[in-house]
Amino acid sequence: MNAQCFVDQVATKDILLRVTSVCAECYDGLKVGEHIYYDLQNYRYLCHNCYDKQSTATEYNSEEEEGGLFA
Ligand SMILES: [Zn+2]
Repeated sequence: MNAQCFVDQVATKDILLRVTSVCAECYDGLKVGEHIYYDLQNYRYLCHNCYDKQSTATEYNSEEEEGGLFA
């Protein structure tokens, strides 16, 4: 399993109109100029709060996975 990858972007009108204007996790509205995080594994945008939660959780997971794979 790969560690989750996120692309840090600044929300533009284009993204909000064409892709999504809400966070895929908490459904909070995204605004132009805000930092948003594109989840490359699940093809969705997350707000900063949810990205924070996800990346923390992922760090723990990948440490465990690496330990298991290379032990
Ligand atoms: Zn969110």
